[in-house]
Amino acid sequence: MTPFRIEPLFVGRVWGTNDLRPWYDQVATGEPIGEVWLTGDDCRVATGPHSGKTLGEIFREMPQAMMGEDAPSGDSPLLIKVLFAQEKLSVQVHPDDRLAQKYGQPRGKTECWYALAAEAGAQVAAGLKAGVTMDEVKAGIEGGTLEKSLRMLPVHAGDMIYVDAGTVHAIWPGSVLLETQQNCDLTYRMYDYGRGRELHIEKSLEAVQLKTKAGKVMPRVLEDRTILLACPYFTIERIPVDASRSSASLRREEESKAGLSYLFAAEGTGRVSSPSFRDVDLPPRGMVAVPATSPIFAILDMGGLDLIRITPRWPGKGA
Ligand SMILES: [Zn+2]
Repeated sequence: MTPFRIEPLFVGRVWGTNDLRPWYDQVATGEPIGEVWLTGDDCRVATGPHSGKTLGEIFREMPQAMMGEDAPSGDSPLLIKVLFAQEKLSVQVHPDDRLAQKYGQPRGKTECWYALAAEAGAQVAAGLKAGVTMDEVKAGIEGGTLEKSLRMLPVHAGDMIYVDAGTVHAIWPGSVLLETQQNCDLTYRMYDYGRGRELHIEKSLEAVQLKTKAGKVMPRVLEDRTILLACPYFTIERIPVDASRSSASLRREEESKAGLSYLFAAEGTGRVSSPSFRDVDLPPRGMVAVPATSPIFAILDMGGLDLIRITPRWPGKGA
């Protein structure tokens, strides 16, 4: 199955922005746009023989072609988005795999944010301050003072922030974030600054863990790439292309078998080129899916390409 570009899906959010330029050539016509979904189940394939199908359909119909034989389930493992927050997002928490499965979902939600840009003073909440107790969390929700218990982190362009399941978190305005997360619908809103939207207090308290691994992750610079984050569910790498690079050289050593990967252009333009299929262009902030069964290809830098590669991992199955 050949690599294909995915059409981004622009999703309205009250906390979003009206004009996505220069990130995307998109202006809101109604509600502001908060999220650009790059690998959502409803995103459509933009190139190749499966053009027009949704990503959800592709995974359902061809799970092994997409993910290889090791994939434990048939659906899309990762949801990747770009977030444009102009206001504070609610304080929320996601369940881990075990809790999600208790509620009939295949997986929980561990996520991370990679800052594509950040204004001075931009910050996010990733976890609770040290020593905060569950009683204080409850009192903070009831009394409208939960903000005081949040561990705020300043955000600078290039920062990677890990938010594992169970972490109390909130995105605040000022940054443009590439969010990678397990493809799961479960979000429990625990606090909304008194704005009156629905809260899921009981479930959020069940999901909250006072101590998690959340926080900034230092990049690991290797000879041929930089590992921005490696966690049990996904690996995110920044890969210098330097004119052209073969598909084999994109893979890490420990990736023994071909699996699914995504190629994202944080900046600039790329092209996926091969004698076996028609070229697939990778525009700025665009996304190309590389199925496990893809023929070999080269990724070309067509101008200023800053390539981010994202690969799902199956916990307990190594790379
Ligand atoms: Zn979240």
